[in-house]
Amino acid sequence: MQNLRKTIAKGVEYEGIGLHTGTLTKVRLIPVSEVDKNSPTGIVFLRDGVAIPAHLTFVKSSQRCVVLSNGDVSVSTVEHLLAALYSFGISDVHIFVEGQEIPIGSGDATHWVRLLMEAGTRELEQERKVITVHKPIEVRDERTGAYARAVADKKLSVHYTFEHERPFIGVQSFLCDDLRAHFISDIAPARTFGFIEEVEELFKRGLGKGGSLENCLIVFSDGYSAPLRFEDELVRHKVLDLIGDLALLGVDLNAHVEVYKGGHELHLQLIHHIWERLMSGEGEI
Ligand SMILES: [Zn+2]
Repeated sequence: MQNLRKTIAKGVEYEGIGLHTGTLTKVRLIPVSEVDKNSPTGIVFLRDGVAIPAHLTFVKSSQRCVVLSNGDVSVSTVEHLLAALYSFGISDVHIFVEGQEIPIGSGDATHWVRLLMEAGTRELEQERKVITVHKPIEVRDERTGAYARAVADKKLSVHYTFEHERPFIGVQSFLCDDLRAHFISDIAPARTFGFIEEVEELFKRGLGKGGSLENCLIVFSDGYSAPLRFEDELVRHKVLDLIGDLALLGVDLNAHVEVYKGGHELHLQLIHHIWERLMSGEGEI
């Protein structure tokens, strides 16, 4: 089956506040035009007339959230929107951003799923590049024991493990054999979370200004700020972030990705290795 590049069928927009800046941002998603569909550019953010491709080479920072920049112009917290686009198979779209940070919605990706359902998708004539992993790729942090690895699989699958010393969290492990197929039901509703001690630290650093109980699940010493949507909601949100980070490859990846104690930085290290191998070979990694 031919895998074609895809854009959205019609333009849509969404307005909301950013988690860290607390400011209102409007985002307009515009399909690629008949003109640029012949030379697809991928997913591109446009802010103040500057194009910022959603590609790992434009990542400025990945602490707490992913920030992309081109020169002095940046957009932050792109990961949940990118995860939704990736799971819908949308490879080419222009995202006009009026503001600095992509809206957080209710902390999950359900607002983006609704928006993309409203937008619909349209196939382009170009074939979409799909890469498969032949030799395992692994990154490891010897100090913490954290690792991320990609091994061969016919689809994009995951085994993600998250653990925390709070006994009511313990070890959460999420296994999914087809992330794209299960994204809407099993991953998109999982909310951003923060441990109360980290939230206090974020406030001190001037971040988290838009954070509230409506868009963030707070983990207290003895429980959560709201009922969980899934027993293992925390690890599912980690998977949501991982998919958004994988979108920064700019190509479809079919692999089984295994992550232990991960976060954006570890995900991006793995993705850099995948990219380097892709660049040095003939498309096989
Ligand atoms: Zn997230």
